[in-house]
Amino acid sequence: MVTSIRRQDQLASEAGVLARAGDLFQLLRDGKARTRAELAELTGLARTTVAARIDALTSLGLVGPAGEAASSGGRPPSKFVFNATVRLVLAADVGASHAAVAVTDLNGMVLARHKEALDVADGPEAVLDWVLENGHKLLAEIGRSAADIAGIGIGLPGPVEHGTGKPVKPPIMPGWDGFDVVGYIRRDIDAEVLVDNDVNIMALGERHAHWSEYQDVLFIKLATGVGAGIISSGELQRGADGTSGDLGHVRVPGGEGVLCRCGNTGCLEALASGQALAAKLAAQGIEASSGSDVVDLAAQGNVNAIHALRQAGRDVGEVLAICVNMLNPSVIVVGGSLSRAGDQLLAGIREAVYGRSLPLATAKLRIEQSRATTDAAILGASRMVIEHVLSPAVVESAVAAALRA
Ligand SMILES: [Zn+2]
Repeated sequence: MVTSIRRQDQLASEAGVLARAGDLFQLLRDGKARTRAELAELTGLARTTVAARIDALTSLGLVGPAGEAASSGGRPPSKFVFNATVRLVLAADVGASHAAVAVTDLNGMVLARHKEALDVADGPEAVLDWVLENGHKLLAEIGRSAADIAGIGIGLPGPVEHGTGKPVKPPIMPGWDGFDVVGYIRRDIDAEVLVDNDVNIMALGERHAHWSEYQDVLFIKLATGVGAGIISSGELQRGADGTSGDLGHVRVPGGEGVLCRCGNTGCLEALASGQALAAKLAAQGIEASSGSDVVDLAAQGNVNAIHALRQAGRDVGEVLAICVNMLNPSVIVVGGSLSRAGDQLLAGIREAVYGRSLPLATAKLRIEQSRATTDAAILGASRMVIEHVLSPAVVESAVAAALRA
């Protein structure tokens, strides 16, 4: 009887220690080496408790020794630090006509990468086989293997139900609707697989790499398609069905009569996407078949291209002004292939947003060009996985599983 109660107490106290190992780990994620005594002081926990949690995290490899602190006499105390290379992340960015894959560490540092032209319309098996094949190649290049993969993050160019990782009626992805991306990948690599649309992961990557001091970031992608990723109070907002930020088919004031591929008229995408601008120039007898062509023409001083970009900026700004009044972001980051145009595009956006939004909402608002540019999606796919696999709850359950084993 006595033994049994004692055993229960012991289990309860172990559970208490385990339940919070993941929280202690969050302190160490800044990469600073600390002694047990420093951690005890920071957390207010007993030194024995800290020691037990550090032991648990060390057994997972997430935390390792980092030399010794200066001694005040006697044996110098050990320091511990987050080991960001013990596990790896496979990050994939699948676009309409290209795909990129990278291996990163648990800080999101890219260790190896590969990119090539690939048509998403080839279907899920062909595209995901490409991701896996090149993922294995990159791992081999850096002397690691799939056993080191903590998680896999994939961005797709269409709507995705984030909870299941299944694409939902993606317009440019034949054969992908409802496809079990997670199950297909896990048949090859047994790791956590997270899938989201490319704009959401670009928003995550851009914010983490370059705007981490801001909690409220609106990322807008202007390319073949138009869409936004919303980060509010530090969290990506996906909405009830994962369609938050789908701005491409919002009606732009003054856009009446311009037919969109969706069947409506006056959609933002019909006025301001790369294709729309290229078509506008082509109708004026100027050779342009993509948004990139338009940006290049503007860089060469073509007045029609500059004018088209300026007007596209105003059209985007009309829609963003409404978003600003609703979401009150601190920074709007403009990404996607058209964003290379820089001020030729941003000037129009700023003109409309500052002219149309409430003064209080724009007093401190910044409107900036993407800094991560073409890396945003890969960085975001990695970040999405890291935030999940290193979260307090997931680390705690890994600690508990390691101790049971
Ligand atoms: Zn439309």
